[in-house]
Parts: sequence; structure tokens; C-alpha cells
Amino acid sequence: MPPKLPETLIDSHVHLFPDKGFDAIWKAFDQMYQVPVLHHLYHQECIEYLRARQVGPIVYSNYAHKPGIAGSMNAWNRELLNRSENLFCYAAFHPEDDEALAMAEDILSHPQVMGIKLHFLIQHYYPHDSRFFPLYELIMDRKKRLLMHLGTGPIGNQYTGLDHFKILLKRYPDLPVTIPHMGGYEYKGFLDLLDDHPDLYLDTAYSFWHQAPGGYDQGTEALERYQDRIVYGSDFPNIILPRKDEIEGLLSYDLSSGIYSKLFYENGARLIQSACPECIHFCPPHVHTAY
Ligand SMILES: [Zn+2]
Repeated sequence: MPPKLPETLIDSHVHLFPDKGFDAIWKAFDQMYQVPVLHHLYHQECIEYLRARQVGPIVYSNYAHKPGIAGSMNAWNRELLNRSENLFCYAAFHPEDDEALAMAEDILSHPQVMGIKLHFLIQHYYPHDSRFFPLYELIMDRKKRLLMHLGTGPIGNQYTGLDHFKILLKRYPDLPVTIPHMGGYEYKGFLDLLDDHPDLYLDTAYSFWHQAPGGYDQGTEALERYQDRIVYGSDFPNIILPRKDEIEGLLSYDLSSGIYSKLFYENGARLIQSACPECIHFCPPHVHTAY
């Protein structure tokens, strides 16, 4: 184990879906990105894979790409969380569902639910669409969080990008949000927002493969400056290059072990503790090999 990694990692960006959902997503990856996903592993295999590689707490998400499925997705989430320790979830929401808000309220009451995942690229809404405002207000009221995929990388559309997010922050400057992929490709713009929005975090998923074009480009200084606001996430199992290489990409910045401990554990733990205060006793990973 490289000395700079903490003994236990928190992975704050994992995807778990019912088996049928995974099948559809892997097919979509082939079509959308023309690159196959590396690991065709279903949810239990994903958890086991990560737990065998130093990962303790896992924060996963899923999302509703169309109306009518958030309810069954969240029923699945509830069942999985009930039988899984040390597993936390950003649950599904679709603004066009009947009773969308009541459903959100219900799933947010689960002690292992961190908040709601919104995927604007796929869901085809603007983040500042007023149909989401009741959800945002509910999230703040319940002290939960949002995981918002709205960056332009690896592909974007009219609904994604920094400018839309800024419009939203004007209305809700204290919205508790994690932006995946370090805000890529608009890395600098999203990092700059961290100064003025204390509950905004970025995650590292898909941003630190040296062999992939378009990765994080803001150097060591920004990682040091924002060391308290970045959480490690892998995007497992929907990755197209080895997960290990991205950890090594992060280690190659040669930051202090204190900073790596924040990125790979402490910051993620703080978010879990704030959103899921009833679950503060993390269990150690069952089997240790290497990351
Ligand atoms: Zn993801």
C-alpha cells in the first residue's frame, strides 16, 4: 500500500442499479461514448470488488432517466440499504412523476440516504428549472445533499455547463451540492465557485487518468488550496480505464499524506456524517488487499 493513502478509502461516487438498469446503461455507454465499460459487474459484485480493495464506506447513486421509474428505483435502494452496512445512497428523482416530492421526502427519511442524484445531461432539464425548486428546498430543510451531474465532460448538451449552475447558485447560494468529475471540462470555473459557496464539493471521478485526454488541468496548487472540498470517487463500475490508474494519477501530484487522507477519507466522512448523522459508526472494510 503506498504510504500516502489512508488505510481505508471512502469511494463517494459509485453507481449501483438493479441488474436490468445496469444492462441498459452499459448498452448506452457503447452507443453514447463508443467505449465499453470495463467492469460488467452487478451491484453485489461491485460492493465486493471495492471492499476487497481498501474501500470501506461506499456512496452510490442512481437516477431516473424518464418519468415513472424513480419509485421502483428507490424501493430497490431502500431494500439494498437495509441489508448493507456502510453503504450510502444518492437516490432517484424525476420532476415529472406524480407525487415526486412526496416520494423524495420518503426516501430522504432513510438513514443511509445522503440525498438525491440529478443527471441533467441525461434527464434533459436545466438545473435552474423551477420544477426542481421544491426539491432543493426540501433537501436544505432535511440537511441532505445533491449530487448533480451537469458538467460538459466527457460530453455535454444544452442543459449542462457552468453558466446554468451559476444561475442556480444565484437563487440558492448555500445549496449543498457535490459536482462530479471536478466540474470537467470547466475545471477552473467550478473550482473558483468553492470560494463563495461553502457547501459545494467536487468529486474526482473520471478526472485523473493521465492516459485520457480532457482530465483535470488546474495543477497541484488548486488541489492544495481546495483540499477540504474534494472527495475521491471512482464512478465504478462504469469506468473505461482502470480504477487503479486514477488513484495513481492522484498520487502522482505528490501531495502531503495529510491531503490524501482528506481526499480519500476525511472529506467524504464529513459529508456522510452531516447527511446521515445516524450512521456515524463506519465499519472497517472486510478484506484488505491493495487499492
Ligand atoms: Zn457517475
